Amino acid sequence: MTVNTLEKPGRRHGGWVIEDAQNEENPFAAMTARLDRAAAALDLDPGVLRMLRQPEKQVTVSIPVQIDNGEIEVFTGHRVLHNTARGPGKGGIRYDTDVTLDEVSALAAWMTWKCAVVDVPFGGAKGGVRCDPFKLSAGELERLTRRYTSAIIELLGPDSDVPAPDVNTNERTMAWIMDTYSMHVGHTVPAVVTGKPLALGGSLGRREATGRGCMVVTRQALEHLNLSVQGARVAVQGFGKVGSVAAQQLARAGCRIVAIGDRTGAIHNDRGIDVDAAAAWVRLNGTLEGFNKGDRISNEELLTLAVDVLVPAALENVITAKNAAHVRAKVICEGANGPTTAAADSILEERGIFVIPDIVANAGGVTVSYFEWVQNRSGYAWTERMVNDRLDEIMVRSFHDVLALSRGHQVSLRTAAYMLAVRRVAAVHELRGVYA
Ligand code: GLU
Repeated sequence: MTVNTLEKPGRRHGGWVIEDAQNEENPFAAMTARLDRAAAALDLDPGVLRMLRQPEKQVTVSIPVQIDNGEIEVFTGHRVLHNTARGPGKGGIRYDTDVTLDEVSALAAWMTWKCAVVDVPFGGAKGGVRCDPFKLSAGELERLTRRYTSAIIELLGPDSDVPAPDVNTNERTMAWIMDTYSMHVGHTVPAVVTGKPLALGGSLGRREATGRGCMVVTRQALEHLNLSVQGARVAVQGFGKVGSVAAQQLARAGCRIVAIGDRTGAIHNDRGIDVDAAAAWVRLNGTLEGFNKGDRISNEELLTLAVDVLVPAALENVITAKNAAHVRAKVICEGANGPTTAAADSILEERGIFVIPDIVANAGGVTVSYFEWVQNRSGYAWTERMVNDRLDEIMVRSFHDVLALSRGHQVSLRTAAYMLAVRRVAAVHELRGVYA
């Protein structure tokens, strides 16, 4: 199956406005542009590059679901395994109105590079169901999840493909997937998913892992740039699983969070926002709407505030060729996958903005997913301290590996991160050869 890179060039993504600039936002094209750049810098074997440019497997399924009024609705779902040379496919499943095969394929490839950058023994995968999860009841979501799981069941397994939460999915979704899979195979298999509830074999620290990882690499970046962590002014776009925790962790590290936003809009308060209060508000009310502890601003305005650190932690394509020239942050920590388009990369680079690329910045989540998988397979649960210490160590090491490569080759951190990842995946392909 080929990848349709012309699918849905510009679009509105949930409540986030996404600009349309000549297909600039096609995520698979963005991924390939970065891969090609790294391959050229590495002088990569053209045959290996050809393999890495294509996902190994793309599966599209229709998912009939009986909705609460008794009618049947049919949803479309995808699961893509981009590359499994280094280990089982690993990556989340998202529920969103704008899910496309193209987007899922790009996200799967990003997982390949992310797992390779932090050097966990996984390949890259991703799944998605095109639906509006906010309009589905808990029962409908459960039936959707179970039917989707059973439709892709041949791919799944602790040694072949291990899902996790992503946009609009959570621990409860993972519990349904784990149960459905276990019922199919006839025994309980906790290691088939990560990001599970603790009682089902989830890991301590997994829920906070992506946001914690963002904090760790941001601190490293500020120290590297001789900027003070204490009092550093931070704007965070997205207040879900990643953004809210990143904001809380950065606040605990001494930063001042001056702006936060979600799909309902953003707030700005130069004196600092109490992010624990904001998180408590969201737990009660679902969104930040009505949390009036600052001036209401738009998400677009949040992105261009004069801050030390900007954390885009929502969706793809928010920093584009149209607004990159107006971004005034000194450091960008990409909590989301693909928040910056390939066209915006060069603008940010020219302007000297220090971008910690997504495949490093948000790798904390999959790193602790790896710890969860290891704990499940050995049947021994780690303490939270063990999880956090090992996570911090991997994040710090990966950041410095990428920084050293970027300085050695005089390339951006993003190109260096791709170079490191692609080199690791290519080395495995070279050793394994091509099965004929
Ligand atoms: N969805 C997360 C990501 O994009 C986590 C994936 C995982 O833990 O497998 O990195």
